Amino acid sequence: MHHNKPVSSEEQVKAIADTAPIMVLMLDKDSGAVYANTAWLRFTGRTIEQETSEQWFKGIHQADLDLCLQTLKKAAFQQSSFKISFRLKNGNHNYHWVVCNGATRLNATGEFDGFVCWCQDIDNVMLANHQESEQQAIVSGQNEDILSKELLSANEELLTTNEELATTNKALHLTQLKLANLNDELEEKVRLRTTALEESEHEQQTLNEELVATNEELAATNEELATTNEELLSSQRRLEKLLEELKESEHRTRSLIESAPLPIAVYKGREMKIVLANQSIIDIWGKGNDVFSHTYHSLLPELGNQAIYDQLDEVYTTGKAFHARNQRVDIVVDNVLQPFYFNYSFVPIFDTKGEIYGIMNTGAEVTDLVRAKQQVEQSEKNLQNIILQAPVAMCILMGPKHTVMVANDMMIEFWGKESAAILDKPLFEVLPEAREQGLEQIMADVFHRGETFEAVEMPVSLYRGSQNGVIYQNVVYEPYCDNTGKVIGIIAITTDATEQVLARQKLEQSLDEVQKLQRQKDDFIGIASHELKTPLTSLSALIQVLTVKLRDTTDPFVNGALAKANIQIRKMTNLINGFLNISRLESGKIHIEKQHFRLNQLLHEMAEEIQITTHSHTIHVHDHEPVDVFADKDKVGSVLTNLLSNAVKYSPKGKSISVSYVKKDHYVEVSIHDEGMGITEQDLDKLFDRYYRVESSYTKNISGFGIGLYLSAEIIKQHGGRIWVQSKSGEGSTFYFTLPLN
Ligand code: ADP
Repeated sequence: MHHNKPVSSEEQVKAIADTAPIMVLMLDKDSGAVYANTAWLRFTGRTIEQETSEQWFKGIHQADLDLCLQTLKKAAFQQSSFKISFRLKNGNHNYHWVVCNGATRLNATGEFDGFVCWCQDIDNVMLANHQESEQQAIVSGQNEDILSKELLSANEELLTTNEELATTNKALHLTQLKLANLNDELEEKVRLRTTALEESEHEQQTLNEELVATNEELAATNEELATTNEELLSSQRRLEKLLEELKESEHRTRSLIESAPLPIAVYKGREMKIVLANQSIIDIWGKGNDVFSHTYHSLLPELGNQAIYDQLDEVYTTGKAFHARNQRVDIVVDNVLQPFYFNYSFVPIFDTKGEIYGIMNTGAEVTDLVRAKQQVEQSEKNLQNIILQAPVAMCILMGPKHTVMVANDMMIEFWGKESAAILDKPLFEVLPEAREQGLEQIMADVFHRGETFEAVEMPVSLYRGSQNGVIYQNVVYEPYCDNTGKVIGIIAITTDATEQVLARQKLEQSLDEVQKLQRQKDDFIGIASHELKTPLTSLSALIQVLTVKLRDTTDPFVNGALAKANIQIRKMTNLINGFLNISRLESGKIHIEKQHFRLNQLLHEMAEEIQITTHSHTIHVHDHEPVDVFADKDKVGSVLTNLLSNAVKYSPKGKSISVSYVKKDHYVEVSIHDEGMGITEQDLDKLFDRYYRVESSYTKNISGFGIGLYLSAEIIKQHGGRIWVQSKSGEGSTFYFTLPLN
């Protein structure tokens, strides 16, 4: 600032703004940018021409843009200041959160002309690690100093102008006195002349002449008066100009302080009388707007025991500025003592003689930032506690080297190391054996791509103590992000699945063994049946011959014995054929040999054959139209034998059994109904399994191997038909099967 070269208040703000640590953007009434400071341009990576000619607000995040524009429009309409946060794109095309304080901007005539926006990149502050934030605090302190200096020199100018004004006033006063004297003289002269005129008419002539002379004198005096008047006028004009300049300068200083988003106040004298304070600091004090009747001490008595009075007094005594960073200050707001955090400065103010007469107080409230930082630290602590207490093995690995930040006991035990040997070390340095097993690549992917990795029963070999063994892990590697979503580490969760895997392997092994035994049993049945078949065939032939030879015998025992022997041989033959079929089925050697035959005829034959040996039950065949099929007659016959003998086996004596059939479009459906014990629901679907038998007190004494229904089902399936059963326990059963027609 320079005295004889007046600078417009706007240029002055710009000059200050360019050195400010804060981003500043000046907007016109229509939200167009007219100016952006260096900090702003450094952030957006754009030029001042771009900001002012292109729409600057295109840099605002799409999601925040509408609200921002609405806020700007509303504030312009109401000509009021505003505060808003939004994400702003920086030169690297990243979005940062920015807090923007908009103060109204007036032109020289005091009309609304737009806004000065003071914007703060809060992302940086939030993210900066401790060291960085210290540095930033120092930089912002320096910039606050610059602002303070500007304010001080504005003050100096004000003082000089005041002095000039006083001199001009003095000159004005003198001129006025002179003018009054002249007037008095003139009046006196006029009075004297008039008296003389009255005294002597004789002297009228003389007097007249004298009057002329006096008149001339009067004219001269009048001229002098006019000159004096002119002098007076120009003096007045100068005074007006000075007054205007003074007003302008004061306006500049005030508006600078008012529009600054930083709290500013000026205290005068050792008693610290509040002479200047902007709304921002008034709000912080929280004591209402009437602060100018107070001293600092009377307004803020609660600071008495917080060292602040001493700091102020020290500055006033030594003339040396005082700066505090992230300082906790407890202030009574709404009648409650509450903690706040500030960066603040006390800067001495000197008059033109170089004597201290006051202190300027600037500051920035950083409560939110300090709180946010505390919160981040707290939530990190919480996470660590959760991990330490988790009932599964957990750890956090930080950075691209996966440094172990925290790991709970289960995890440390799992790794088989001492915790001191692991904490704060890169994972693969302490567990080199995990490196070769692909874990390094997996973790690098989680860290760099931010994708979760999950694996079940992943085999890993680790040195546990001294021995090296394979273990199985269920693992989840989850990206660990900071509050901007950037991956800064990995949260690893591991459960040991070794026991389950070993148990399952054992189970699989025993299942294998069971299957092997089953196969051996099948093989044995196959071989045994084959070996039994030959003697049974000759036995059967011998009995046939014997029956023919003894046809005419009258011995009732021989007759009966032969008939019984025949029945037993047929039963045994059926059984052995069943076993043989089973082993043929298993080895895939069962052959279906189809021929054309009349199905209803076969039903009759089989029913009769069973009836011959059964006297306890009656078998009815319900005859309808003839049905011809193309199928393996022997095998379909054995299905019928099975179903009919089961019907006899599983129903009490004296009951009847009925055989029926229905011809449908493309198939025939055969049913065998009995009035026997029936089948419970849970047995129904297992009935056709190999070796399945219902276990109950009733069936206990009925012999069987559980292969009849299994074989029957296989035979029907090979024909492309279906077999099923409808039954209720205690109410008899109906077995159905279908065969395709031709
Ligand atoms: P099994 O040689 O035991 O008769 P099957 O395979 O022919 O073998 O029959 C399997 C099981 O189905 C039998 O043990 C029996 O419990 C049940 N079962 C078969 N037919 C009937 C039926 N008509 N009534 C009640 N239960 C039956």
